[in-house]
Amino acid sequence: MANSKYEYVRAFEQADILLPNTWVVVRIDGRGFHKFSDKYAFEKPNDRRGIDLMNAAAKAVLKELPDVVIAYGISDEYSFVLHKSCTLFERRSSKLVTTIVSTFTSYYVHFWAQYFPDLPLSPPLPSFDGRAVQYPSVRNLRDYLSWRQVDCHINNLYNTTFWALVQQGGMDTKTAEKELAGSLASEKNEILFSRFKINYNNEPDMYKKGSVVFRDYELVEPGSAQPPADEDGAKTAEELEISKTQVEKDKKRRAKAPITIHHLDIIKDEFWERRPWLLS
Ligand code: ATP
Ligand code: ATP
Ligand code: MG
Ligand code: MG
Ligand code: MG
Ligand code: MG
Ligand code: MG
Repeated sequence: MANSKYEYVRAFEQADILLPNTWVVVRIDGRGFHKFSDKYAFEKPNDRRGIDLMNAAAKAVLKELPDVVIAYGISDEYSFVLHKSCTLFERRSSKLVTTIVSTFTSYYVHFWAQYFPDLPLSPPLPSFDGRAVQYPSVRNLRDYLSWRQVDCHINNLYNTTFWALVQQGGMDTKTAEKELAGSLASEKNEILFSRFKINYNNEPDMYKKGSVVFRDYELVEPGSAQPPADEDGAKTAEELEISKTQVEKDKKRRAKAPITIHHLDIIKDEFWERRPWLLS
């Protein structure tokens, strides 16, 4: 198209290209979901339908954006991890964030009626914010995910105890809040057990661990992980060609693998050691 005299305004756009070779996490979070969950009478502390709906929307994001290698969700938030080799949208931050957040929001609304069949959505409709953060090493990325999973645990233990005091102990919310202010995890476990016969360890993993979404592939037996390839080990051109084809084949197989949702520990090494393809 011919240039117009107005075209100079493009120069006002700021570049926001994320650094190459870094793991990118796009975290989205529901806007005002405290109120939103009240409006639709979410069960407290955990509404199963609400979590299933978040998970369905996250799964759809992975399906539409194969660059997302794994996602982790708790409450009204989801973190989507893009592989460090991702080149989608030339790694432009605003493009990546807005595409993920709008894809997620569309599916959240699209699937709503499946999970809340007798509660039609009405304005104000659900919306999400989003941001992209870059992590330069697998260690940093795993620490990020561990941070979110620890948060899940801390919040869930607190919420489980708080709502037990209110729903089963007949306490008003202010008193329950005071009762728990500054309490240790062990004290919350003790309140749950001695007053309500609840063993926190037996609470569903979905609530204790959050939700992990990824393409499922062959599990590697614990302890049998291959050592990383020796970078100086010279290969013939032919060997290189074969390994390149193999890598391409593996990539395609993995892209076709079913997307699954699990509720398990992603802090310990085991999860990652058994699924070496996730961060390779
Ligand atoms: P902001 O707009 O700043 O994010 P917010 O009201 O969304 O504010 P958050 O800190 O994001 O606050 O917390 C989300 C809240 O949504 C939780 O505290 C909880 O009350 C509610 N919530 C989200 N998912 C569920 C669920 N599945 N079951 C019950 N409550 C939920
Ligand atoms: P990108 O993902 O890079 O934005 P794109 O295919 O969306 O790629 P755009 O430059 O955004 O490309 O252009 C949007 C295109 O959508 C238009 O060129 C036009 O073909 C089509 N389009 C959008 N709105 C309408 C409309 N109301 N009627 C007909 N065509 C439309
Ligand atoms: Mg927030
Ligand atoms: Mg929120
Ligand atoms: Mg939140
Ligand atoms: Mg377009
Ligand atoms: Mg356009």
